[in-house]
Amino acid sequence: MSTHAPLIDPFARPIQYLRVSVTDRCDFRCTYCMAEHMTFLPKKDLLSLEELDRLCTAFIGLGVEKLRITGGEPLVRKGILTFFQGMRRHLDSGALKELTLTTNGSQLAKFAAPLAEAGVRRVNISLDTLDDAKFATITRWGRLPQVLAGIEAARAAGLKIKINVVALKGFNEDELIPITEWCAREGHDLTFIEVMPMGEMSEEARLDQYWPLKDLRARLAEVYTLTDLPDRTGGPARYVRIAETGQRIGFITPLTHNFCESCNRVRVTCTGELFMCLGQEDMADLRAPLRASTDDAVLEQAIRAAIARKPKGHDFDYSRQRVAGQMSRHMSHTGG
Ligand code: SAM
Ligand code: SF4
Repeated sequence: MSTHAPLIDPFARPIQYLRVSVTDRCDFRCTYCMAEHMTFLPKKDLLSLEELDRLCTAFIGLGVEKLRITGGEPLVRKGILTFFQGMRRHLDSGALKELTLTTNGSQLAKFAAPLAEAGVRRVNISLDTLDDAKFATITRWGRLPQVLAGIEAARAAGLKIKINVVALKGFNEDELIPITEWCAREGHDLTFIEVMPMGEMSEEARLDQYWPLKDLRARLAEVYTLTDLPDRTGGPARYVRIAETGQRIGFITPLTHNFCESCNRVRVTCTGELFMCLGQEDMADLRAPLRASTDDAVLEQAIRAAIARKPKGHDFDYSRQRVAGQMSRHMSHTGG
């Protein structure tokens, strides 16, 4: 329950979902996400764990009910478990309905059980291939067995698992059915994500790896009976049911589908920049108000002023073979 007037944007959308990136660092270097040699932010620029707690608590006080922690790789942030354990009080009070994270899975063998104890019930794990060699190629630094062990640990801790697969032309097209069947067998939810024009990759490279999800869906429909589902989560995901396996599959198609009308989310980067839209440059600095005063009224005012500027939608567009609305920031910066 919020203690103040809830956050409503100019298009009457209530803001109930906050995604927070807690670090720009990562133990992988996925080719579509990061350059191999990244320059990371100086530690002093990052919000401290205490500042992250204050920030999330302020948003929860303003009606945010779902909090997703992301990065970079959130589980490489030192002391991050303390932050999760702190957020448990908002779950216990009922103000926060869901505390969750998106992870590459590499650290889950260590963290799955304590995360479950902190009140996490579901976890999104990114996994683009089930082939050892291809996994090493796409993540550059990652190793598949480590992630599979993390997934096992998450299952053992009782966490519900959703596998996120970035659809990459010529890379995991041949694994569409094997990945789908693996998820069905293992009882994992599955979502395919269309690759987005983030970071400074060349236009040719982007278009080369772009595998539109409508093509992927058509490929699935050759093998399975698909039924579109009306489910909406306020985000870009659309869902289908596979009759043969009973699975619900998600498609995140920010480039080919307009989802903005029901957008209920905002994002905060690890330096405290509040992005009101993933696909727009406009942002508000929340680190300055956090550091200027211990009085949360200043922070709250900055949040309200920013939400009043939330744009109607994004400008991503791959049509006519060009990448319009390309964003210069990396996904690991804004938080996927
Ligand atoms: N490190 C964690 C992980 O990989 O799950 C969390 C952060 S990562 C930036 C969040 C999600 O964004 C991952 O599922 C990743 O595959 C996805 N992602 C990264 N770059 C992307 C891009 N250019 N287009 C689409 N999805 C991307
Ligand atoms: Fe790291 Fe996730 Fe980006 Fe891969 S997608 S480099 S795991 S932040």
